[in-house]
Amino acid sequence: MAKRDYYDVLGVTREASAEEIKKAYRKIAIKYHPDKNPDDHTAEDKFKEAAEAYEVLSNQEKKARYDRFGHQGMGNGGGYGGGHMNMEDIFSQFGDIFGGGGFGDFFGGGQQRGGRRVRKGSNLRIKLKLNLEEVANGVEKKIKVKRYVACHACDGNGSKNGASLQNCTSCQGSGQVRKVVNTMLGQMVSTATCPTCHGEGKIVTQKCDVCHGEGRELKEEVIPINIPAGVADGMQLSMSGKGNVPERGGIPGDLLIQVEEEPHQFLKRDGNNVVYDQYISFVDAALGANIEVPTIEGKAKISLKAGTQSGEILRLRGKGIKDLNGYGKGDQLVYINVWTPKNLSNSEKETLEKLRNSDNFTPNPGKNEKGFFEKVKEYFQ
Ligand SMILES: [Zn+2]
Ligand SMILES: [Zn+2]
Repeated sequence: MAKRDYYDVLGVTREASAEEIKKAYRKIAIKYHPDKNPDDHTAEDKFKEAAEAYEVLSNQEKKARYDRFGHQGMGNGGGYGGGHMNMEDIFSQFGDIFGGGGFGDFFGGGQQRGGRRVRKGSNLRIKLKLNLEEVANGVEKKIKVKRYVACHACDGNGSKNGASLQNCTSCQGSGQVRKVVNTMLGQMVSTATCPTCHGEGKIVTQKCDVCHGEGRELKEEVIPINIPAGVADGMQLSMSGKGNVPERGGIPGDLLIQVEEEPHQFLKRDGNNVVYDQYISFVDAALGANIEVPTIEGKAKISLKAGTQSGEILRLRGKGIKDLNGYGKGDQLVYINVWTPKNLSNSEKETLEKLRNSDNFTPNPGKNEKGFFEKVKEYFQ
């Protein structure tokens, strides 16, 4: 089948402007769009034919070659022989025509095809040290970060003034080019990022003085962060959009905050509970005593009953860490350790010697204590 003239295909004259060519193509593309003409091969062929014509006529260089040499000129020198342009190519190639909601809106399909990808900037990572009190109750922290933001002088596009930002002529602003590769199976077409504009679709001819064309600048910012109660060492919190802006515009990355728990002087964390090791003398254990223990919120008084055993665990309700998911609050557990003196004076030894054979000093664990001692025995078996 003889190839039709590209101008005839689009129904424009040879003198048509770029805008007229685009308009004409858009009209045809909408009319023969495959979503509108399912299983209609004639429509599909017309759709592809128009895409191929537009591919050439929308590119200054190719248009000039076509004007001079006709279809012959398009043969091997990077031309498009027709018949191998698939739908994905068409959609990705002419993102400026199909993207931007044009087709999606028209057909109500809302499908996203082709077009330039919106770039996302890099994430920013910081470590944040929190003490146990901050972890237990949550805290608002103001942190200083240096992040890339859009350049204030050029509004992020990197050009010295609006006019020095131009559509890339290699890809007509789509950011993608088609590559034709000869393989054993015939010609394969794939799309690749435009090497001229690196996929941006725009070329900066005169760079912004402030950012030297990068479109962004480093700025120190103070960012308030709400740390929820109950976070744990190694957890990562993220604030979307508080990372770096990419070069020449796009969506900023995220700010990733890694939690580091500072060890507490006396208290250890165990899940939502807080553990404290309390040593008591055996005199206090035997006679009972009032003692003070450190908690997250200052000191708390505990009264030890007479006959307190080593290994007993006292529970201070609600003195632990708030649950991250809102399931209440942990406790503080006080582990009792009876301290056995290591050095004794002669008179102390005498006093204790008198008690050695006293019945009350002979171990006689009750039911509760037995549990504990048996566990210890099992452990050492
Ligand atoms: Zn700038
Ligand atoms: Zn380009």
